[in-house]
Amino acid sequence: MVRLWVLNTLPAHWKRCRDGPTDADAHPERQLGHPWHGIPSGGRAPDPRQLTPGEDLFVVRQTGGVGVSGIWTFENARRVDDQAIVPDVWRDHDGETRDYDWLLYCRGSPEREVEPPMREDFGGSFPFHHSKLTGTGIAMEGADRAAYVEALIDHGISATAERRLRDALEAPATGGTAAADSDPPARTEYTTTRTIRDTKLSTMAKELYDHRCQLCGDRRDRRDGSAYAEAHHVKPLGTPHRGPDTASNLLVLCPNHHADFDYGRVRVDPDSLVVTHAFDDAVDGTFLTVHADHDLDPASLEYHNDRIASF
Ligand SMILES: [Zn+2]
Repeated sequence: MVRLWVLNTLPAHWKRCRDGPTDADAHPERQLGHPWHGIPSGGRAPDPRQLTPGEDLFVVRQTGGVGVSGIWTFENARRVDDQAIVPDVWRDHDGETRDYDWLLYCRGSPEREVEPPMREDFGGSFPFHHSKLTGTGIAMEGADRAAYVEALIDHGISATAERRLRDALEAPATGGTAAADSDPPARTEYTTTRTIRDTKLSTMAKELYDHRCQLCGDRRDRRDGSAYAEAHHVKPLGTPHRGPDTASNLLVLCPNHHADFDYGRVRVDPDSLVVTHAFDDAVDGTFLTVHADHDLDPASLEYHNDRIASF
């Protein structure tokens, strides 16, 4: 299971966080120039030894209302034996010197930078409004994870980042939860609306279409020969859209046309199912393929069309 951690950084420290350590003596060479983060002593961050290198993701947000600014892959956690390797600006905390327990290193991946940052202004009803994201790191599981990821995807992050996050959602919800469970103060704050993604439903929809894109008919294969398609919620699940997680609100798409839907480059007439695409002549003017057993709701298509009209 891919875990997401939300990490907070002060806007004044953002650049240092993003650019990684610069001291080659104190930090292993391979990590120079890669994003990193510190966990202060006495905080309520989960134990970073729970994280899986190369798999778990950090969602890094700038505090003070700036919002999510980067998504990175965790690479290494290192216990701080000597406080001298922690930047002074991190240690200076309102005039007092703060010690650090851990340094977290990420793999560099500039395409995952969220630019502009995703403002976390969800009208106060979203469980991850910035006021809920206190603390250095919050491990997210299940419905919380899905809700946050949907919000990120709705924001229009890069296609690479979106694919990785969707993979994180598709991953089975198994594995250790000890870190999150040992962090009750953060978890008890999650009391508001959640979005639950039914992965079984999207798997069924993909099988119904033989993993072929409803727009172009394309079917992509993984290296092992198994087919690959993406499920798209026409009316997004997250706040403020609150689309239903039902087959009537799902399309099976290839990665390109999925991105085109997300970026508002394609619309489908709810009545005639005629496709209008901004630049892809191969599908522009064709009909959306809808299986006889797929009861697609025209209202979802209408919602999408209205929504992208404001992009
Ligand atoms: Zn397609």
